[in-house]
Amino acid sequence: MMSTIKRVYTFGARKAEGKADMKNLLGGKGANLAEMCLLGLPVPAGFTITTEVCTEYYENNWQLPAELMPEVWAAMKKTEDIMGMRYGDSENALLVSCRSGARSSMPGMMDTVLNIGLCSATIPGVIRKTNNPRFVWDSYRRLIMMYADVVMEKADGLEPADGRGIRKQLDDLLDDYKHKKGYKSDTDLNADDLKYLAEEFKKRVHSSLGQPFPDDAKAQLEGGIKAVFKSWNGKKAVSYRRIEGIPDEWGTAVNVQAMVFGNMGDSSATGVAFTRNPATGDNTFYGEWLINAQGEDVVAGIRTPNPLNNETKNDQNSHLKSMQEAMPSTYKELCDIRDILETSFKDMLDIEFTIQEDTLYMLQCRAGKRTGTAALNMAMDMLSEGLIDERKAVMRVDPSQLDELLHPICDPAAEKKVNIFVKGLPAGPGAAVGKVVFTAEDAVVWNRKGEKVILLREETNPEDVEGMRAAEGILTARGGMTSHAALVARGWGKCCIVGAGQLHVDAASKKARVAGSDVVLKEGDTITLNGTKGNVYLGAIQLMDATENPRFQDFMKLVDKSRTMGVRTNADTPADAKIAREFGAEGIGLFRTEHMFYGEGSDQPLFLLRKMILSEGVNERKVALNELFKFVKKDIKATMEAMNGFPVTFRLLDPPLHEFVPQSPEKQAELAKSLGISVQAVAKRGETLHESNPMMGHRGVRLGVTYPEVSEMQIRAIFESAVELIKEGKDPRPEIMVPVTCDVSELDFTKKIADQVYAEVCSKFGIKEIEYKYGTMIEIPRACLLADRMAKSAEFFSFGTNDLTQMTFGFSRDDIGGFLNEYLDNKMLAADPFQTIDQDGVGQLIKMSVEKGRATRPDLKVGICGEQGGDPASVEFCYKSGLTYVSCSPFRVPIARLAAAQASIRGPR
Ligand code: ADP
Ligand code: MG
Ligand code: MG
Repeated sequence: MMSTIKRVYTFGARKAEGKADMKNLLGGKGANLAEMCLLGLPVPAGFTITTEVCTEYYENNWQLPAELMPEVWAAMKKTEDIMGMRYGDSENALLVSCRSGARSSMPGMMDTVLNIGLCSATIPGVIRKTNNPRFVWDSYRRLIMMYADVVMEKADGLEPADGRGIRKQLDDLLDDYKHKKGYKSDTDLNADDLKYLAEEFKKRVHSSLGQPFPDDAKAQLEGGIKAVFKSWNGKKAVSYRRIEGIPDEWGTAVNVQAMVFGNMGDSSATGVAFTRNPATGDNTFYGEWLINAQGEDVVAGIRTPNPLNNETKNDQNSHLKSMQEAMPSTYKELCDIRDILETSFKDMLDIEFTIQEDTLYMLQCRAGKRTGTAALNMAMDMLSEGLIDERKAVMRVDPSQLDELLHPICDPAAEKKVNIFVKGLPAGPGAAVGKVVFTAEDAVVWNRKGEKVILLREETNPEDVEGMRAAEGILTARGGMTSHAALVARGWGKCCIVGAGQLHVDAASKKARVAGSDVVLKEGDTITLNGTKGNVYLGAIQLMDATENPRFQDFMKLVDKSRTMGVRTNADTPADAKIAREFGAEGIGLFRTEHMFYGEGSDQPLFLLRKMILSEGVNERKVALNELFKFVKKDIKATMEAMNGFPVTFRLLDPPLHEFVPQSPEKQAELAKSLGISVQAVAKRGETLHESNPMMGHRGVRLGVTYPEVSEMQIRAIFESAVELIKEGKDPRPEIMVPVTCDVSELDFTKKIADQVYAEVCSKFGIKEIEYKYGTMIEIPRACLLADRMAKSAEFFSFGTNDLTQMTFGFSRDDIGGFLNEYLDNKMLAADPFQTIDQDGVGQLIKMSVEKGRATRPDLKVGICGEQGGDPASVEFCYKSGLTYVSCSPFRVPIARLAAAQASIRGPR
């Protein structure tokens, strides 16, 4: 029955109906507010409306369930009793905030309204009680502003033209008034001014939005609750969820909490802190605070906040008083809370606090976002402090964060030679080079055109997330280390500098002026950010690979202790093989033979390949192949040598041959000469190779079926390399992989060639046995359907998920760009299936192939070698599907190792 569902959970006075592990129901904020109460911390009382009510609300056609408000008022009664005040009371009114809070934190993405409950019935009483009319009128005009913006405009889906939103209109009213009065700052406004402004605000709200600002405490609260639910489907919240992969069904909770005020004067303040340094992981308390302000002000980056303590001082804020200096005893209290929280949550936390007339209140705590470096350092520290065990330590670093440890930085030598353009705070580490853009939209558009951009903003706000994502780096003129930009950038491991105060950004004209100089930064100018130091440079500075974190190897040792699935690499050269070994690859899952025909040093082999392609008849082709043989063998041998003792999977020639036909007249002439035919004849032979659908044309195993001598040459190179290495005392482990197969007959056909070459090589070198494996790529749906038969011939499968995805969806890999964004925007696809395995469709084929294949051959080895092999979600899927190994590019090997270890820790297959 509906009526038996508990929809509201109260907290306050060291008691709570919820606790930390109830995040799914209460959201992260609500669960942790409850937990802080249970820990005996000073938390203003309140209650949490569950995430299930959010779902009910949407299922119920955007209506609150009838049972909710009675339960809310009952909970409010408890809050009132604890706080000793009454909501809506004319003498002793309780004011509340209405705060959003999803399961996983979405900083700034949803809405919160403060000071709810101020209306004509309560204001006089609050003024009498506080004896501070200015504070009351200031809180009231803030309420009108927030409420009109969040509840009356945004939540009602009104989308005014840029700059015509109600918040902007009210801001303008405020500015005009200050101008008229000759005031410089908000603090010049006295009680009468603010009272007058509040009336003006209400008039404007009514005329602009067509309905009056509600002058009734009950109506205000109900409106606030609905607005929070609605903000779950706000534009910015939706785009953030898509980037972070948070399901739409989760919903948000609503927290209603007694207000405490950081804006009551100089003994009041508000702040944000991290229990350890979120950029480096150092075990020092790190934070920012502002005297006489409301919480929003610190995060919004409106003014540069003060440092919390000595450890937090930097070039930008060292002239400002720290909390340690200004309020030593409250600071001490906060330090004690820091210890209690870390001991209890066993993690680094991000906290919000407010001080009302020297009394400290905790308003929020959650696991703090951190850089990859910090995540790794903190995991290792907490392990040695005994706070967490090895498996927890492994779970503490997000696989995608490792990327950042391997991030490029500014080449120090090159950096020394240039002057610093401007300085800011080092909010997100690493370096970035790109062209300046001034709006998030431009960042997205330019990025789609393939430009690398730096997003330069006065300050970022939650609307900018997509642009921040698209940018190489982020630079803001205002804000501190806990500003929105800093938080989001750190979460993504993105290079970011905030608070570069010398920059005067004018987004409208797409220019930024530098204070005290006539230098102007324009859209499209190239700059370099050093996010580790906070330095901005004009022009592009040489970047270099990240220096190694000395604890990286120790951490990876822990990772491998938990890991059960293998990790190989895709490498086509001995050099790549070497790098991959250093990153811990346990073999090569994909060696593309054709690689030797691209790029540096490919001239000669490419020439010979072209000669082979344009040959007419077997004999001419064999001559060319013979010449090509030594190049192919050299690469194969050197690669197996670099991977000594580990398997190397050689894929037989895969691409359509016409890709290699020379287009330039000189190259054609050269070939004509070498083949002893005319240039016209060369061009003609090239034309005959043209195909209308080469992706499904004459490629892969089909080449070997029409030109068996091509397969033969490659297989001979593999066997001969192996024998030579064996004779040199090495331990080669070759695997021959046949691409683009759809039937076991193709495998049998190629196997016959392999058997014959094998016998020849053994007798030529006088050797009895060469250990090797024979197998196939699985990249055509038909091969999946017939996997049981394929496994009769194949000793291993390797899923080529690029082609398999292409063939399963019917989406061309090369043309998906033309429509992918629309599919994502319309939620027709959750993610790009070429980056992360489509578990619903392609995943079924994979699972089926593994089952069918192993039914035929129980010890069948199964791997994956598509792009998705290094994608953490795909790695987990591969683990669950019973794969023997994943194979990915060398730089993603550590990421795949960690993702595989975490998959094992999460549960058995
Ligand atoms: P977000 O999830 O975006 O951080 P919050 O719900 O935490 O939003 O609230 C925004 C700001 O308002 C924070 O700085 C918070 O500390 C402050 N705030 C929220 N509720 C209260 C309250 N009851 N008393 C004082 N400040 C509050
Ligand atoms: Mg918050
Ligand atoms: Mg393929």
